[in-house]
Amino acid sequence: MKKTLIAALALATGAAFAYPDKPITIVVPFAAGGPTDKVARDLAEALRKPLGNATIVVENVGGAGGTLGAAKVAKAAPDGYTLLLYHIGMATSATLYRNLPYKTLDDFEYLGMVNDVPMTLIGRSTLPANNYAELVKWLGDNKGKVNLANAGLGAASHLCGLLFQQKIGIDMATIPYKGTAPAMTDLIGGQVDIMCDQTTNTTPQIEGGKVKAYAVTTPQRLTTPALKNLPTLDESGLKGFNVSIWHGLYAPKGTPAAITDKLNAAMREALKDAEFIKRQEALGAVIVTDDRLTPAGHRKFVAAEIDKWGAAIKAAGQYAD
Ligand code: ASP
Repeated sequence: MKKTLIAALALATGAAFAYPDKPITIVVPFAAGGPTDKVARDLAEALRKPLGNATIVVENVGGAGGTLGAAKVAKAAPDGYTLLLYHIGMATSATLYRNLPYKTLDDFEYLGMVNDVPMTLIGRSTLPANNYAELVKWLGDNKGKVNLANAGLGAASHLCGLLFQQKIGIDMATIPYKGTAPAMTDLIGGQVDIMCDQTTNTTPQIEGGKVKAYAVTTPQRLTTPALKNLPTLDESGLKGFNVSIWHGLYAPKGTPAAITDKLNAAMREALKDAEFIKRQEALGAVIVTDDRLTPAGHRKFVAAEIDKWGAAIKAAGQYAD
């Protein structure tokens, strides 16, 4: 008899049941080494103890703005051994992709949200512009020649880059990658010019002088030492610019409540883990402590985000098939 069936029978009969009793996989729908991957690996580490020293592995399934990885988890066995860590793309893809192979609100169990992460507007280190005003001038002087990197339609870098282009009224050629980790490699190498990316990926590169940083996407300046001198896009003239990226954890629909409850309880423990908090805060992330940490609060928030970004995407008329 398959182990999952034994677990289901044990649950049905109320018999003692041990979860997890084999490795858990967290699917990250972007390339390894990128911002979402970093959040997932830190979370996996923090979840180990509350899940009885479980083995938790991260699997990177990048492509199509994160929807390939999400589709994989939507179709996985609902046994608690395949989970998804996805960001705001979970909500934007619901409108952006006309043929999404899963229903965002119906095909997953919502386990709780992890963090909010600001983004930064960065450029290659050889770019002549040294501040935001110089960047906008340079972009205007180089119309038709600038390359903007992103992690595909529906990725945070796509969303942020799209809003930035709309607000300054300059279109750029966008170069999609399977995640902003490979995009960052090309930005550092000078093959692309600019990118909008989460602080969880950009902070070390800004600190190390590998890229130029121009602004942050949140309405308030950040407190992280490496980022605290950066102006906001809002104060730089793009009034109302506000993009913050959140991450949540999901299981396939139908995962038994005994397992989702255990995962939610483990998440609450993990999010209080001092080392997790320290690592995340150093990268500019803010740990979720509000109602979005409950499965119902998480789902409600994603539903609101689908409406919010859906309206903007429809207004822009940008869709993917
Ligand atoms: N989160 C993506 C990554 O990890 C990047 C993005 O959304 O733009 O690569």
